Amino acid sequence: MTLIPPVTRLDALSDVEIRGIRADFPILSTEVNGASLVYLDSGATSQKPVQVLDAERSFYERDNAAVHRGAHTLAALATESFEDARSTVARFVGVREDEIVWTSNATEGINLIAYAMSNASLGRGDEASASLRLGEGDEIVVTEMEHHANLIPWQELAARTGATLRYIPVHDDGSLVLDDLDEIVNERTRVLAFTHVSNVLGIVNPVDVLVARARQVGALTVLDACQSAPHLALDLVALDVDFAVFSGHKMLGPTGVGVLYGRGALLAALPPFLTGGSMITTVTMEKAEYLEAPQRFEAGTQRVSQTVALAAAVRYLSAVGMDRIAEHEARLGERLVAGLAEIPGVRVLGQPAGTHRVGLASFDVAGVHSHDVGQFLDDRGIAVRVGHHCAQPLHRRLGVTASTRASAYLYTTENEVDEFLAGVADVTTFFGVSA
Ligand code: PLP
Repeated sequence: MTLIPPVTRLDALSDVEIRGIRADFPILSTEVNGASLVYLDSGATSQKPVQVLDAERSFYERDNAAVHRGAHTLAALATESFEDARSTVARFVGVREDEIVWTSNATEGINLIAYAMSNASLGRGDEASASLRLGEGDEIVVTEMEHHANLIPWQELAARTGATLRYIPVHDDGSLVLDDLDEIVNERTRVLAFTHVSNVLGIVNPVDVLVARARQVGALTVLDACQSAPHLALDLVALDVDFAVFSGHKMLGPTGVGVLYGRGALLAALPPFLTGGSMITTVTMEKAEYLEAPQRFEAGTQRVSQTVALAAAVRYLSAVGMDRIAEHEARLGERLVAGLAEIPGVRVLGQPAGTHRVGLASFDVAGVHSHDVGQFLDDRGIAVRVGHHCAQPLHRRLGVTASTRASAYLYTTENEVDEFLAGVADVTTFFGVSA
């Protein structure tokens, strides 16, 4: 059974619905450089609807207090909102609320796992603790398309523990080379960490194939869901991963809040990453006893307003429907890729045929630096990402140092995609690019 979302044709969001959605996002009706904003940088961070802005504001106006401490009414209200937000996010990805840990962002979530694993000798003596302990002879596997956030923490863990870091390479078309999967993910593999959707290519990786192989050899799986949680219906239990991370700011929520999912038994065995207030039961001058997960991983005063606003974001996405958002974006993604491919001198980075995709594509314009492409488009109010998108190894593999990335979301219209494509065509004319 494949768990890759099927390329089905659901009802797309209608023009009327998209107009209604856009009216919820004040920033989308602003002007940039004298032109209406065309925001195609949602892969970096999404825009926020009034429902999310209001939730954060209203928390500060009515309920603001530190959570889990203090006997006063506001502290109880704040704690209730904080824990309700945890339940809302847990339901959104199909897991239990005590399996959700709040972090600052996805980067912190991956670092939390990787650092806590290098402290695993401090953990309990049970089987789950043993699965978290790494040493010489063990292997950690990532892919060649990882964002640096899902690469460097594993490089560091390997360096701290003496384990070896290996990777699954990518084909020229950007898909993973799975022919040697059984050799790369083998009996020595302890962790397989990979992205669900590439932030450069926009393609959805075969989670089912990767997880099945990891299970065969008893390796832990860590899913970087940064580019999937905002764009696809995500069921972490069905995907059967051990850990997953994503960032609130990419899914209509505020910055400063991220989500770490960990399978209950593993979170129970994982030692803390940050220590201090709010994560202990008793402390003496010599030692401390820690709370159970998730509180054991939430040291210090917590980010309450952000979690409340993220819950509002999740409610917004759920009301529109994740399947319909995915369908809308798949169509925009196809339009982006097809349109870019028609422009002479433009090379879309790695686009395997027939792969499910989100509304994101990166491209190179022959002989023109991506910063110049970005600047040209910005003069017309079109916001895109330029550079290596925190994926230097993937760019190197595809033979470029940088690219320009356009990324859509539920509020993006076909007209905006067409305006962007016309802008790219004009870039090639302006810089005298030939095929
Ligand atoms: N992983 C992927 C695939 C991403 O796209 C990003 C952000 O661009 C990250 C990880 C890191 O997310 P954050 O910077 O919010 O921690």
